[in-house]
Amino acid sequence: MSHTNPLAATQPAGEVVLNVTGLRKAFGNNEVLKGIDLQIRRGSVVALIGPSGSGKTTVLRSLNGLETPDGGSVTIGATTLDFSASVSKKQVAELRDRSAMVFQHYNLFPHMTVLQNVIEGPVQVQKRPRAEATTEAESLLARVGLLEKKDSYPFELSGGQQQRVGIVRALALRPQLLLFDEPTSALDPELVGDVLTVIKELAQEGWTMVLVTHELAFARQTADEVVFMDGGVVVERGPAAEVLSAPQEARTQQFLQRVL
Ligand code: ADP
Repeated sequence: MSHTNPLAATQPAGEVVLNVTGLRKAFGNNEVLKGIDLQIRRGSVVALIGPSGSGKTTVLRSLNGLETPDGGSVTIGATTLDFSASVSKKQVAELRDRSAMVFQHYNLFPHMTVLQNVIEGPVQVQKRPRAEATTEAESLLARVGLLEKKDSYPFELSGGQQQRVGIVRALALRPQLLLFDEPTSALDPELVGDVLTVIKELAQEGWTMVLVTHELAFARQTADEVVFMDGGVVVERGPAAEVLSAPQEARTQQFLQRVL
């Protein structure tokens, strides 16, 4: 990809983009997050790994305002929400605007074309001029090889193409933080590669991102840091190669033995 991330150019190196402290969430009696801390500096990539049900998706959804945590705080850029106090809809909207999520099942609007899907957020939510949003969307679609599909509907695309549209839709929001929730787990194996390539390129361009993934080889290649969660807590974290090759905690070792 030839473009660089405009946000990467304007923020001082090493600035903390995401700071999560003591994040807690229960669904009824099910305590899903039991005090999660997470910090990410600008331009770095964190892979969140762990068994199914450990709370990874709930962390991402909490960062993106899709779940309201019961306690703890989330800072993205200049926005901080303290969930131990009540938060307003306006504050949640402000937090949501700072990140963008790529979903496991793409979540494209089925009744809209590819282009309409991409410009919906910029135009309707961010109130940017339609012409400007369209030009930017077309350029982003060209980057992932999908410009000729701009007038197609999601059902006319393969899963891999739909997910690349999902990524473009996230980029079009110009977020400070990209969140990926198992972006390739719904794809047929032969379609996974193209999507992972796009994500790797974004990492190299300096986007700051959190990746929930089962693709451990990909995590090793792409992530700076790996965070292993189990049972709603962070069990272990560290440089990707270290955690994946020489995990210190028994629970991490067991998990990696099962999945590798
Ligand atoms: P992971 O992403 O690690 O698989 P999740 O964050 O999806 O884990 O889920 C953690 C736990 O929270 C699971 O037990 C799941 O059933 C529960 N959970 C997630 N979302 C909801 C919800 N909306 N209502 C009730 N329980 C939920």
